[in-house]
Amino acid sequence: MLSRKQTPSVSNQQCDTYAWFSQRAWVEIDLGALSYNVQQLVQFLSPRTQLMAVVKADAYGHGAVTVAQTVLQSGASWLGVATVPEAIQLREGGIKAPIVILGATHTPEQIHAIAHWKLQPTLCSPKQALVFSNILEEMNYDSPVPVHIKLDTGMSRLGTNWQQASEFVQLVQRLPHLSIASIYSHLATADSLDTTVMKEQHRRFEEAIAHIKAIGIQPPCLHLANSAAALTDPALHYDIIRAGLAIYGLYPAPHLQNVINLKPVLQLNARITQVKTISPGTGVSYNHQFIAPHELRLAVVGIGYADGVPRSLSNKMQVLIRGQRVSQIGTITMDQLMLDVSAIPNVQEGEVVTLLGEQGNERISADDWAEQLNTISWEILCGFKHRLPRVAVM
Ligand SMILES: *Cc1c(COP(=O)(O)O)cnc(C)c1O
Repeated sequence: MLSRKQTPSVSNQQCDTYAWFSQRAWVEIDLGALSYNVQQLVQFLSPRTQLMAVVKADAYGHGAVTVAQTVLQSGASWLGVATVPEAIQLREGGIKAPIVILGATHTPEQIHAIAHWKLQPTLCSPKQALVFSNILEEMNYDSPVPVHIKLDTGMSRLGTNWQQASEFVQLVQRLPHLSIASIYSHLATADSLDTTVMKEQHRRFEEAIAHIKAIGIQPPCLHLANSAAALTDPALHYDIIRAGLAIYGLYPAPHLQNVINLKPVLQLNARITQVKTISPGTGVSYNHQFIAPHELRLAVVGIGYADGVPRSLSNKMQVLIRGQRVSQIGTITMDQLMLDVSAIPNVQEGEVVTLLGEQGNERISADDWAEQLNTISWEILCGFKHRLPRVAVM
């Protein structure tokens, strides 16, 4: 068994030039699942609400350009990134859709790039708005730049305090070279079972919008929801939802699993590079953190912490071979790790091991790793290094 999928196509944007079958380790991206997730989300939204696919951090490690192409074909209308270089990478990859930069931008270089590549920045403060307007004035830039006004309703991250929203919006509206494309905020606790803080943020957002309308400004477009909020309450959907995690097929919290069906997009695979028998008492890997209690068959796998397999999973993780779970043994090293494959007869060099994903009836999820590591699945997905090629399959 080389791979569970038959005809993988190597995406030229995200993968190196080696053929997929020669890889020692790779991240498999299921574009069919990605497309399915986007369609599930779009169907869940009312026709008024558009989907912004959040593709920051190289599309949560899935490969930004390939993901952007697929989500736009599947019903997303907007793309969200964190930084200017992330947005430029998409434009250079031929992506024409509106791209919102969700992070802060200030410098003349960033502002020039935003104008040149027709990107849409977030404006977080009156000071930043003035800098933008001044630099665009100096550039003699003729068409106005669409900007997204960020309000802080309780996340205490980017944005102007919601109580100063109407003054801020009024200032931006009067400044030359800027046109307000949307007003938005971000929720701090949308994945929590306790909705108290989220409801208060929602109330503050509504209050800010009411003040903006009271001074005679009709906001063109409003958005508040990330994946968790989108799955929690349609009242939070407004004109756009900004979904990251859900499009990659993971649930922001266990209690949201019944809302819509999602399929994990990313699978982490590697090949067995050597198989050997070790005798009882033999130490395995650095510092002999595993000692064979009896004779066992050991398989070496060509993936390690430099690829993004956390070293702190050493002696704790399982992987899938031929649809069966086997245990990882010894310390995970930079480029390689070891398995106890005694339970599987006649394991061959070259066989595929699935570290995350599905084989037969077994699945190991980023949520499993996250739980073991006391973190969240978002961090697991973003942790796979560029040494691993991204291989797109349909
Ligand atoms: C990253 C991000 C999102 C996406 O969050 P998910 O929980 O992955 O859906 C939405 N909005 C903003 C402002 C973000 O930074």
